[in-house]
Amino acid sequence: MKYVSTRGYSEAVDFLAASLAGLAPDGGLYTPVSWPQIERPKAGDSYVETATRVLSAFAGGTLSDEVICTLAERAYAPFAHQSVAPLVEVGPNRWMLELHHGPTLAFKDVAMRLIAQLYDYVLEQRGERMTILCATSGDTGGAAASAFAGSKRVDMVILHPHNRVSPVQRLFMTATGSDNVHNLALEGDFDGTQAILKQLIGDEHFRRRVGLAAVNSINWTRVAAQSVYFAQAQAQLGGDRPIHFVVPTGNFGDALAGYVAARSGLLNSFRITAAVNANDAMARLLSGQPLTRGDTAPTISPAMDIQLPSNFERLFYEATSANGDPAVRNGAIVAKAYAELAAKGQGGIPPDVSARLASMGLDGHRVSDDETREEMKRTLTETGWAVCPHTAVGLAAARRVRHEGPIVTLATAHAAKFPETVREVLGVDAPLPARAQPFASRPEKFDTGPMSADFVRERILSIAMKS
Ligand SMILES: *Cc1c(COP(=O)(O)O)cnc(C)c1O
Repeated sequence: MKYVSTRGYSEAVDFLAASLAGLAPDGGLYTPVSWPQIERPKAGDSYVETATRVLSAFAGGTLSDEVICTLAERAYAPFAHQSVAPLVEVGPNRWMLELHHGPTLAFKDVAMRLIAQLYDYVLEQRGERMTILCATSGDTGGAAASAFAGSKRVDMVILHPHNRVSPVQRLFMTATGSDNVHNLALEGDFDGTQAILKQLIGDEHFRRRVGLAAVNSINWTRVAAQSVYFAQAQAQLGGDRPIHFVVPTGNFGDALAGYVAARSGLLNSFRITAAVNANDAMARLLSGQPLTRGDTAPTISPAMDIQLPSNFERLFYEATSANGDPAVRNGAIVAKAYAELAAKGQGGIPPDVSARLASMGLDGHRVSDDETREEMKRTLTETGWAVCPHTAVGLAAARRVRHEGPIVTLATAHAAKFPETVREVLGVDAPLPARAQPFASRPEKFDTGPMSADFVRERILSIAMKS
C-alpha cells in the first residue's frame, strides 16, 4: 500500500512516511494509491478490534497487527466510554454517534491519540525527535496537546487564532502542564494559521533542519483513524442497512473519513450531508463553484469557521477520475486549480470534475446561527440533552434529510466545551466532566504574535535548538 500526492508531483511513499510527513513535498495531500477492501466489523466487535483491522489495511505491512492493536489500546484507554464512539437514539430512526468521550471532549481526540501513539512508537524505534506543528480552529490543538503532552520524542507547537477559540478550547491546549507543548496565539483567523503551517512544512530546508511534521486534519492517519467509527456505526445498526450520515463540517476531514470508509467497503452505501455554518465553502464546492479564498465569518460553531476546507483536495483528486478508478486520477488538474487559487484568489474546477463531485453521494447543507440555536432548544425539549452548537448544526441539517433508513449525525463535541453558548441559548450550565477537571486547575501558558510565518519560524527554531 503506497500513498501518492493529490498534486501528482511527489514520489509515492509508504504509510509511515505519509503519516510522519503530513503534507507531500509538492504541497498536495497523501492519499492511498488504491482503495483496500476491508472486511466489515460485526455487531459486537470492539472499537479496538475494528481500529486494528482498518489501520492494518492502511498501514500496508509497515506495522504488525500486534503493534497496531497495542497502540490503539493505549490510545483509547482514557476514553470515558468503553465503546469509544457510542450510538444514541435521538428520535425514530435518528441517531447521534457520540465522538466526545475523549480527554478533551471533541472528536479530534479519536484520531489524535492514535497519531501520538504512532509517532512515539516510530520515533522511539528510530531514536529520533520531531517538532510537530499543529494549526487549530479550536479542538485539534487541545486534542494534540493532550495526546502529545509529556512525550519525550516530540516538541509540539500549536498555532491558534487569538480570541477566536472558546475559553475551554484554549484551556485544553494551554494548560497541559507539560513543557513539550508550546502555544502561539496569532492575530487573525484559522485559515491564516493553516496557510503558515503549509508554508513552513513546504519549506524543505526548514522542515529537515527542525524535523518538522504536521498533525492537522490533512494528516492521512487522522482520516484513516476516523473512518473506524463510521464502520462501527454501520455494524451496530445492521450491516446491510443504508445509513445517511450527517457530519458537522469545517476542514472536511471527518466527512472525508466517511467517504474513505465507503470506498474501502466498510459501509453498505454512501450518503453524507456535510452540515456547515455560515462558512459554507464546502456546500458551494459540492455544487460546482470554484475554489475561493474569502474572509471567515465568526459563528457560534467556531471549530467550523473555515473558508477553505483542506481535505476537499482529496475529494477533488478522487473526482478527477472519470470512472472511479484510482489508477487514472489526475493530480495535474488539482495542482493547476490550487496554483490558480494562490495566484488569482480563485481556482477553477473543470466542469466534468464538478459534475462528478456533485454525484459522489455527498451534499452540503448550510445552517445559520439562529437555526443552530433553535435546534439546541428543540433537542433539549425532545431528549433532555444539551448538545454543543457544532452537533446542533448537524442535527438541524439532519431534519431536512429524506431517507428511509437510519440517519446518523456525528456529535462532534461535548456541550461543556462551549458553556457560554449553552448558557446563553439554553439557560443551563454545562459543567466540565470529571476527566477534564485537572485542566481547569492548571495555569494557561501561551504567547501572542502576528499572523506571520517568520514569527512562527523563529519560535520553532528557538524551541528546537533547546531540546
Ligand atoms: C473540527 C470540528 C468540526 C469539523 O470537523 P472537520 O473534520 O474539520 O470537518 C466539527 N465540530 C467540532 C466540534 C470540531 O472540533
